[in-house]
Amino acid sequence: MSSVNPQTKAWQDISQKHHLAPFSDYKDLRPRIITKAKGVYLWDSEGQKILDGMAGLWCTALGYGREELVEAASRQMRELPFYNTFFKTAHPPVLELARTIAEITPGNLNHLFFTGGGSEGNDTMLRLVRHYWASKGMPEKQIIISRKNAYHGSTVAGASLGGMKPMHEQGGLPIPGIVHIAQPYWFAEGGDLDEETFGIQVADELEKKIQALGENKIAAFIAEPIQGAGGVIVPPASYWPRIREILAKYDILFVADEVICGFGRTGEWFGSDYYGNQPDLMTIAKGLTSGYVPMGGLVVSDKVYQQIKEVGDFNHGFTYSGHPVAAAVALENIRILREENIVETVKTQTAPYFQKRLRELCAHPLVGEVRGVGLLGAIELVKDKASRTRYPEAQAVGMMCREHCFNNGLVMRAVGDTMIIAPPLVISKTEVDELVEKATLCLDLTQ
Ligand code: PLP
Repeated sequence: MSSVNPQTKAWQDISQKHHLAPFSDYKDLRPRIITKAKGVYLWDSEGQKILDGMAGLWCTALGYGREELVEAASRQMRELPFYNTFFKTAHPPVLELARTIAEITPGNLNHLFFTGGGSEGNDTMLRLVRHYWASKGMPEKQIIISRKNAYHGSTVAGASLGGMKPMHEQGGLPIPGIVHIAQPYWFAEGGDLDEETFGIQVADELEKKIQALGENKIAAFIAEPIQGAGGVIVPPASYWPRIREILAKYDILFVADEVICGFGRTGEWFGSDYYGNQPDLMTIAKGLTSGYVPMGGLVVSDKVYQQIKEVGDFNHGFTYSGHPVAAAVALENIRILREENIVETVKTQTAPYFQKRLRELCAHPLVGEVRGVGLLGAIELVKDKASRTRYPEAQAVGMMCREHCFNNGLVMRAVGDTMIIAPPLVISKTEVDELVEKATLCLDLTQ
């Protein structure tokens, strides 16, 4: 975006002067200004139409411009724009929503604690699992095992649970009681091992860590079914079965962070369904409201709930826990997902087509691997295909590709030199074709 129109320039000047944007380079805060959206498309202040290959930020399951969600919000705002859910008060939308989510979550995950987003969901999880063990007379069970390069949010607990080094380096993280084991990232870290052997080896790190620290000290293991912000890291097929075997042997809680994988992204309602996992707790956000309003939550199993119920008070909550407008939008969002059979359509129609078309990019000289599940995809950029050698200036190459994408009407995000894609669940096959065509052009330009 070298020369821009006067209105864009004016907004960019305001941004430089006043807006501290998240995860941004503060030396240059001149953003691309997104002004409107419809379906799977965005428009920027230069009038450019852009296919949103990232669903906002993995959020807009139903795409943009769904009037039903707007109506649900405005109806609720007229009826009851706000009331809290503290101290024995509630309202119909939050109760209806809790019941509805319990119907679609796997197993006996039946109890909902609502938050403003995914980070608060993971903060809530950390406090609740420690509270759970303390209430069972085991207060020393405090440690949470997570994975390197995981993303669990940006609050102090969320960023500590996450395994992102650049985040830990700012603010003295992680907080005590959180440890990280290896990620199942075969393409980057598998070395000479075949994928399935690598999957077992990495999963075994969980058992080694439990044994090294002592089962009596470990409260929980947290993981995204597929690491999203880390680079859409689809684990080898051997990984989750081995993790399940290990978890079955030890008395620790299993937390699935479903903030990205939840609400249909994998072609199942939750990533845990896709892999056949049965977590004790699940964090949710993003697709819960299709991003139209902020909302997240922690889903708690009967087992955990029965125990903490014995104590009574849980001294934790947010003003906006179960906000009525967010709850009304989430309810409408889930109604549409169900009535329009969207998750099933992703599974049987769109995802197989998207995955097939995306894999055609494997033939491109710049591409070392294409992987994905459902409507999640990743393209690894390499200097040399055969040896999987990456560019030394990986970050710059990824940013260049991202910039070419934006300039040619496609949002693809760069995680280093891994290009990642997660379009709205309602993307059509023709729009998938357009996405792949544009991605090919941008790879050509990056070469
Ligand atoms: N967990 C995962 C897996 C995420 O991808 C994110 C955000 O991208 C979060 C948690 C944090 O959610 P939020 O940004 O809503 O706080």
